[in-house]
Amino acid sequence: MYPREFDYVAPASLEEAFVALGDDAKVLAGGMSLIPLMKLRLLSPGLIVDIGRIPGLDSIEEADGHITIGALVRHADTASNPLVTANAAALAVAASMTGDVQVRNRGTTCGSAAHADIAADQPAALIACGATMVARSASGSREIAAAGFFVDTLTSALTPAEVLTAIKLPKAGPGEASAYDKLGRRGGHSDYAVAGAAAWVKKSNGMVEAARVALTGVGTKPMLLEGVGSALVGADGSDAAVAAASAHALDAVTVLEDLYGSEEYKGHLAKVFVARAMKKALAAV
Ligand SMILES: Cc1cc2nc3c(=O)[nH]c(=O)nc-3n(C[C@H](O)[C@H](O)[C@H](O)COP(=O)(O)OP(=O)(O)OC[C@H]3O[C@@H](n4cnc5c(N)ncnc54)[C@H](O)[C@@H]3O)c2cc1C
Repeated sequence: MYPREFDYVAPASLEEAFVALGDDAKVLAGGMSLIPLMKLRLLSPGLIVDIGRIPGLDSIEEADGHITIGALVRHADTASNPLVTANAAALAVAASMTGDVQVRNRGTTCGSAAHADIAADQPAALIACGATMVARSASGSREIAAAGFFVDTLTSALTPAEVLTAIKLPKAGPGEASAYDKLGRRGGHSDYAVAGAAAWVKKSNGMVEAARVALTGVGTKPMLLEGVGSALVGADGSDAAVAAASAHALDAVTVLEDLYGSEEYKGHLAKVFVARAMKKALAAV
């Protein structure tokens, strides 16, 4: 199917993009989600603002104790970049499990976050890794914690006037590690998550000092599981402690039944993948 008619601009700078953006406009980055939605006519913006030609948005850099991922960094680069693999392994793995080779070479990590699909991989990893989202518009810049960025199904905290210009990740300190795992819709990894979980842990003196665990594919949005993280803190990180913490996986989650599983099955998978992500993160410390 063809999309409805739309206007198209390819600004040369963010400032030009801010002028073009508004209620009837959509940012185009890799196009891996926007174009299919437009072809299905589930979305019909009057104006496409293609940020693909704006220089300076395609790098991963280290500055001020953070790793910064620019708006045009592709999934493949996030997956293989040494700064990301060393400091936010969960995100690198989630990016490596996003779609197929073509999708990973075209789609962007910031685009995946802005799209806010309920079953997307990287949002869960961003939440677990404690990422900060940098949103800019004509009226300035603001930072939003990843845990509060995913508002609802296909709804992020961005306004129509804003571009997600970068994602900031904290550098991993001693005793910290993260992991991501999922069951993809076709049984493997290269598809949206039927259920997926990301975990970040900090251990010292053999005990879990801090933990953040996030779930995707199961509820109405990728979300932080506060009950799981709190249950793991203060424990020794043993399999028994992981099992006890993962029992909280559905504490604040409305499980959505879909074509890929019943409520009961997806609830079960949530606990399985939450436990797996925590075990992998603890093993990586
Ligand atoms: C065959 C296929 C398989 C896929 N498999 C997976 C999978 O396994 N896991 C998974 O998580 N995803 C999967 N996806 C989804 C896809 O990879 C991501 O949603 C996509 O890459 C989003 O990034 P993009 O750069 O392509 O964004 P676009 O498609 O260009 O944009 C998506 C949305 O985000 C907005 N947007 C994009 N960038 C910005 C920005 N910087 N600032 C503000 N708004 C912005 C757009 O306006 C639009 O609303 C798959 C897609 C396809 C086509």
